[in-house]
Formats: sequence, C-alpha cells, structure tokens
Amino acid sequence: MPRIFVASRNAKKLAEMHRILEPLVPGVEVVGLDDVAFYDEPVEDGATFEDNALIKARAGFAATGLPSVADDSGLCVDALNGMPGVLSARWSGMPKDDARNNRLLLEQLHDVPDVRRGAHFACAVAFVHAGGELVVEARMEGRVIRELRGGGGFGYDVLFVADDTIAAEGADARTSAELSVAEKDAISHRGKALREIAPRIAAALG
Ligand code: IMP
Repeated sequence: MPRIFVASRNAKKLAEMHRILEPLVPGVEVVGLDDVAFYDEPVEDGATFEDNALIKARAGFAATGLPSVADDSGLCVDALNGMPGVLSARWSGMPKDDARNNRLLLEQLHDVPDVRRGAHFACAVAFVHAGGELVVEARMEGRVIRELRGGGGFGYDVLFVADDTIAAEGADARTSAELSVAEKDAISHRGKALREIAPRIAAALG
C-alpha cells in the first residue's frame, strides 16, 4: 500500500491531498504530522514559496523516510510589490492573527485606487522522495476589496475576489470566503498546484 507523508497538521489539507491523489494512486495512504513520531520542524526562512515548501518536504523526508509533500502559500499584492508574500501568515506580527493581518492590509491599501488593487494567491507544493525532488507553483489571480465579506475560508479570503469569480458573477462577485469549498478548490492556487503535482507524484510512486 503506497504511503505518503504530508508535512501538515491541517486535516483539510490532508483530506484534499487524499481526494486528489486517490484516483491516480488507488489505495494511497496519506499521513500527516500528527501520525508520525515527533520531529523538530524546520524554520521557514526561505525567500520564496518554493524554497519554503522544499525546506518542509526535505525535513519530512529526512525524519520519516516516507515520500513527503509540503506546501507554502500566501497573498502577493501588486501595490505592495508582491508583499505580504512569504510573510503572509505573520504580516502584522506574532502571534499569527488573520483578523489583525486583514485590518493591516486594508489600512495599507487605503489610498490605492480600485484599478491598482490587483493581487494573487500563490501556492508552491514540493515532493521529496528517494528518487529526487520536484516543486510546482500555481496562482489564483484577483483583487483586494475595501471591506471584509464572508464567513468561510481562512486568512485573507474575506477581502479577496478572484478574477474567475468576477468573470462569472460580475461587479458583485463573491469573495473567496463566500465560495463553497468545492468552488474554491476548483480555482484556488492550492487546488491547481495539487492537481498539477499529483500525476507526477503518482508516476514517482510507480
Ligand atoms: P500556509 O502556507 O497554509 O501556512 O499559509 C500562509 C498564509 O497565507 C496563511 O496564513 C494566510 O494568511 C495566507 N493564505 C494562503 N492561502 C490562502 C487562502 O487560500 N486564503 C486566504 N489566505 C491564504
């Protein structure tokens, strides 16, 4: 039975990986950080999402010996030259606080006109196994709005409207916090990156 390790404690991420991989690798078992012996998780001090995903996947492979997957993601705002980027989770300082991050970002973009509020979410997914390493990155393009809307999702979802949603719904398009999980998966940076890497993981697992 093929097993892969995903360096995450987030049950939703583990389930999403399993959903996407299972049709390609029937019977695959996906185990997370809570299912393996404790190890010291590395500091995520890479300059890019790809660096950080690789740091986490390499540490997972070194600690567990299992083919290992890790992701890193964040929001890149055009008017802030791509920030918060890899600092997204801790943009307003520690401890991590989504509501405080959102308030800070809205303040920072207060004077930025609608035409310059473009942004994208990016997600890198790395896979490390005995046969080598690979990493893919995908994006969800969109805009930062001026107020918080929606009760789903997490992080910056409440102030982000995806271009795909605008194309389907027009000016009053829902934020990514107002989409169903399936709707967000279909267009999200994470969904795209996982769907892109899954066949390559399947090939590597033989
Ligand atoms: P992580 O890679 O899951 O640790 O996410 C890093 C940070 O980026 C999160 O804490 C959020 O602030 C932000 N982020 C990443 N993906 C999303 C998303 O899909 N929606 C909203 N915020 C996100």
